[in-house]
Parts: sequence; structure tokens; C-alpha cells
Amino acid sequence: MALNFRSMLTGSFSTGASENPTVAMVEAAFRHHELDVRYINCEVPPDLLGDAVRGARAMGWAGFNCSLPHKVTVIEHLDGLGESAGIMGAVNCAVRRGDQFIGENTDGKGFLKSLMEKVDPAGKAVVMFGAGGAARAIGVELALAGASRITVVNRGAARGRTLVDLLNQKTAAEARFVPWEGTYAIPEGTDIVVNATSIGLYPDVEGRLDIDPETLKPGMVVADVIANPPRTLLIRDAEARGCTVVDGLGMLINQGVIGIKYWTDVDVDPTVMRATLTDIFGASD
Ligand code: NDP
Repeated sequence: MALNFRSMLTGSFSTGASENPTVAMVEAAFRHHELDVRYINCEVPPDLLGDAVRGARAMGWAGFNCSLPHKVTVIEHLDGLGESAGIMGAVNCAVRRGDQFIGENTDGKGFLKSLMEKVDPAGKAVVMFGAGGAARAIGVELALAGASRITVVNRGAARGRTLVDLLNQKTAAEARFVPWEGTYAIPEGTDIVVNATSIGLYPDVEGRLDIDPETLKPGMVVADVIANPPRTLLIRDAEARGCTVVDGLGMLINQGVIGIKYWTDVDVDPTVMRATLTDIFGASD
């Protein structure tokens, strides 16, 4: 498909433009649905982000994703924020509504959509490892979806406490922080366990969360943010203990599905996107 200015344009503003599986995944969905839309990955240095957003406005882009380090600084160049992006203070997806660019965060929404295929978090007790950007996005969406208790387990205390304070102040969930010191035993009564750390991300595929595997119980839903590889050691351990699992590929695919819906109003078929990512990341076993 040729790139021309009659096509609807979308894309990504990042600082490392070369390796981006999202491009292949989103473009595969556009091709599959015969949408005259292109997704272009643009390498944008931090000091030129405002120019890039003005360029997208001038060219009539339907929207764009942005990755680190742009997720917070992009806000000053946008016209407004969606509810969860406002609470998180981070945007990974800008959407043109009328003549405005509105900031949304599809990371947490993509996670939630994948989780909801297995369990509704309303009223559930969650243990979440990590307190970085992914954890913040997921914690806010879980809280807005009605999770009643969220225990944030993190190595660094400052980040962990900041996230817990945010959840307690801005959502109805009851959040508490537990410093991750030594092997963590998942408390009885936990319904959902989330790995929102980077442990297990390629090439550190032997990375394993320091938890007592005996405390993973059948009936728990165990979700991992790691998309590459999708079958992390956590996912394997949890399956072996009889838990229901949710891999990180679903989160990545669903944030793409949600972004495309925002930009084009089309509900795309996630299976074509999963097939593209599986090709890129290799077989899952
Ligand atoms: P950040 O760097 O913001 O946060 C990383 C988190 O992992 C921190 O809580 C950090 O703890 C923790 N961590 C890292 N290494 C260790 C370790 N060895 N032991 C204990 N804790 C550790 O990253 P993000 O939150 O942006 O991303 C986290 C992961 O989520 C990434 O791997 C990314 O690939 C994945 N992700 C997946 C998406 C998807 O669509 N599937 C979307 C977005 C992210 P501390 O604070 O103590 O340093």
C-alpha cells in the first residue's frame, strides 16, 4: 500500500525507531481489514516532541502512540486527557477527536481486556509485582474496574509507595505496599497475581520472580506483562500449579486493538495481530 496524504495516518513517536513489533502488528490489521490507513514509526528526539505533535496535527493524523521517554512530556502538547490517563499522568496513545488530540493510555486497558477474558477484577484481591510505568497503568485500570484490594510488591520502596499513594488517593481501591525482600509468599485469599516487572523479558528468559511457588494456588489467575517470550517461567510455573494464566501477548495485541478502534472506529480481528507477533517472537514453546 502506497503512503499518500489521502490515506489516514497513524504512527508511533519513539526514540528507537527500528525494532517495533507494534508496527508490523498494526499494519497487518489494516491490511487484513483493507483499511486505507498507515502506521509509521518515527524516531523523535525528546526536544522535538512538540514539533512532531504539531506535524501530526498539520498532516491530519488520526492519532499516534508514544513510548518512553515521551509518555509524560507529550501531555503538554495535547488538548486533554482520558480518565485513566489523567490519573496515571502518562499517555501512550493520542487520539484526534474533532480538532483536538486527546491523550489515552491503552497499556492498562489492553491488559484489562485480556484479563477480562478470564476473570472480572471487580471485588477481587490483587497482588501486583512492580511499580513502574506498566504497573501504574495496570493498577489504575484494575482499580477503576472495581478491584477491591491491590497489594503492590516492589523492590524499590519509593516507587512502590508512590503508586500505592496514587491508587489510594485517586481510586476507590484499597492499596498497600509490601517491600520485596527475599522470597515472597502470595497471601491466601489472593484472586489475581500480576507480574508488571521486566523480569523474564528477552533476552533474560531465565528470569524468575522470587516467590514461593507453593503459594500459587489453583483458582488464582496469574497474568504476566512480558510479551517476549509469551511463555515466561511465571506463566509455566503458574500453569503447573493449576492456575489460569494470561500472557503478555494479549496485552500487547489488545492495546493495538483499542488504539485502532480509537483512530478508525473499526473493531479489528486480534487473531491476525497475534499471528504476526508470534512470527516475530518465534514459537511460544
Ligand atoms: P519500568 O522500568 O518503569 O519498571 C520496571 C519494574 O520492574 C520496576 O518495578 C522494577 O523494580 C522492576 N524490576 C526490574 N527488574 C527487577 C528485578 N530483577 N527484581 C525485582 N524487580 C525488578 O518498566 P515498565 O513498567 O515500563 O515495563 C515493565 C515491563 O512491562 C517491561 O518488560 C515491558 O516489556 C512490559 N510491558 C509490556 C506491555 C505489553 O503490551 N505486553 C506494555 C508495556 C510494558 P524497581 O522499582 O525496584 O526498580
